[in-house]
Amino acid sequence: MSQYDFDLFTLGAGSGGVAASRRAGSYGARVAICEDSRVGGTCVIRGCVPKKLLVYGAQFSESFSDAVGFGWSDATPSFDWGALVSAKDREVDRLNAIYLRLLRDSGVTLIEGRGRVLDAHTVEVAGRRYTAANILVATGSSPILPPVKGIEHAITSNEALSLPSPPQRVVIVGGGYIAVEFAGIFNALGAKVTLLLRGESILRGFDQDICTFLTSELRKKGVEIRCETFVQDIERRADTLNVMTRAGEELRADVVLYATGRAPNTKAIGLEACGVSLSDNGAIVVDADSRTAVPSIYAVGDCTDRVNLTPVAIREGRAVAESLFNNNPTRVDHRNVASAVFSQPPVGTVGLTEAEARARHGAIDVYVTNFRAMKHSLSGRDERTLMKLVVSRADGRVLGFHMVGADAPEIIQGLSVAIQCGVTKAQLDATVAIHPTAAEEFVTLRDRRPDPEPHA
Ligand code: NDP
Repeated sequence: MSQYDFDLFTLGAGSGGVAASRRAGSYGARVAICEDSRVGGTCVIRGCVPKKLLVYGAQFSESFSDAVGFGWSDATPSFDWGALVSAKDREVDRLNAIYLRLLRDSGVTLIEGRGRVLDAHTVEVAGRRYTAANILVATGSSPILPPVKGIEHAITSNEALSLPSPPQRVVIVGGGYIAVEFAGIFNALGAKVTLLLRGESILRGFDQDICTFLTSELRKKGVEIRCETFVQDIERRADTLNVMTRAGEELRADVVLYATGRAPNTKAIGLEACGVSLSDNGAIVVDADSRTAVPSIYAVGDCTDRVNLTPVAIREGRAVAESLFNNNPTRVDHRNVASAVFSQPPVGTVGLTEAEARARHGAIDVYVTNFRAMKHSLSGRDERTLMKLVVSRADGRVLGFHMVGADAPEIIQGLSVAIQCGVTKAQLDATVAIHPTAAEEFVTLRDRRPDPEPHA
């Protein structure tokens, strides 16, 4: 019998923690998991899932007007924000119950409360101590609110998912995933949305063509995007929020949403005191096996700030369980992870951006197409689609697929398999298209973009 209460003690029942604990339980390990909020974590409870349900809800507004071009009468349906939020909440409750059942069915002991690591093999939750051969930290991340005067009047994505009423005027600070996704939701539901960027571009780090194109599509839909705009302070006056910019402009809003990044949840849980190293931004430093500086303590997911996406946290968690409890040493390959932004229109991307490819591979070929999807020939909607292929000139291997347009995330998921298999441009060319689709463009691209002029 082991000297410890458990073989694995996991802090945090989000995507990574639950995946690791269930997998470990399935191999007969004695597993406990603690959680101080609802089981499911950011993705299920206050992130990806509820956000995407709101995106679906918001998209109907365009569908109703598109339908007129196809012969449907021009009705003006009414919208009930409360009904959408309640339906979304019911779905989150259902998923939360499924997560609880899955943990139970895997024999994992759920302990309610915030865990604190006391030493390499001890965790304390709600005043009780538990020992474990291995500890897994999977505590996720939380929104960052910068120190701005009046920031207490602002909300984060946590609150934006459940506002009591639909806002008419929304100021969003930031230009990352969350900012553009909520800009799409509120804009489609009829709000006046203003996005304030401290830099010059939304979605920094994405391919430049994607950023420029999505900016133009968002502006066409009515989202106001202001670059190099900094908030001086936020003030509440009666039922209006006044956002004063450093340039002296005053913006009025019902809601001010800050989407200025997330920070790892690693404070006050005993990590540094027991020898776990943290980086400057508070992320847990781990090796390729997700092991921290303390050999019996592992960490996965957003709290390690590697690739902060749910499917990556799940893989990292399962890899730890496979390595520890199935005699199957497993590492996660963080290259070529596809991702999507559920903006309107959405973005899908996998592999290198054009700039990254040039820096790493030198000579590359770039293929870009930009077209109006067939549906909009009748709907009349002024929305375009962008597709881009980045190819190594040396061996013809595809280095990156990028897309903005309807179904981009669904299309890029398939192409991420191809890139994982080392697909070449010649193999794309040899693939017969499905017609008429947007996706077929990826196998029919012929016109190479001219190389950029070399710098003087
Ligand atoms: P991001 O890191 O994606 O973007 C942060 C944005 O805020 C950037 O535009 C950044 O500007 C700006 N910013 C940062 N600090 C300040 C500041 N002090 N004042 C003004 N602007 C500032 O963060 P998000 O909050 O959008 O999302 C967090 C993470 O959540 C993402 O990185 C992603 O990993 C995950 N996520 C994934 C989703 C998906 O897969 N669909 C959806 C939602 C979230 P600059 O560019 O100048 O740095």
